[in-house]
Amino acid sequence: MDPRNIQLHDCEFRPYISEEEIIARITMLAEQLGQDYAHKKPLFLAVLNGSFMFAADLLKRVSIPCEISFIRLSSYQDMSSTGNVKEVLGLTEDIHSRHVVVLEDIVDTGHTVHALLQQLKTHSPASVEVATLLMKPECLQHPLDVKYVAQTIPNDFVVGYGLDYNGLGRNLRDIYKIVS
Ligand code: 5GP
Repeated sequence: MDPRNIQLHDCEFRPYISEEEIIARITMLAEQLGQDYAHKKPLFLAVLNGSFMFAADLLKRVSIPCEISFIRLSSYQDMSSTGNVKEVLGLTEDIHSRHVVVLEDIVDTGHTVHALLQQLKTHSPASVEVATLLMKPECLQHPLDVKYVAQTIPNDFVVGYGLDYNGLGRNLRDIYKIVS
């Protein structure tokens, strides 16, 4: 095994995006958000667990007045449909008439973000946008408009910087991709 690679459970991963590159992308995103949300006092809703590092590094660089809160999504089988329906847990803020920015680790098929946006919109926010660390445009299965994307990647499984493989890898400073 290449000494730079890491092993998590049964899989090998190789270095993909360095912490330095991630922070450079996040800094640009933070500047853009600061301009777009100046005077709007946005509410950032970070989706746990995956977005914890992204949220922390992004918000340290957002210099406008804003609020941050954390939510989780649980999926359960809706008896009336075959799909997984995500339930939003931990939303304690009143988001009515607020400018909401959802912070996600990665948008893959878009199922998660699509379901989350549907739920949030029932609370009549003034606006709701998505900021994601990573996005796999090839995999998108919903007509989602993800306005803020730090980095697009091809359809590879990645870990690190908050993202896990069966519970491991969230603590890694860099992003690694699976060796196929
Ligand atoms: P989606 O609903 O967009 O298909 O998937 C979103 C969720 O799937 C993410 O929040 C994440 O938990 C997981 N996911 C999708 N792609 C990856 C990946 O490449 N690596 C990791 N660690 N998780 C992923």
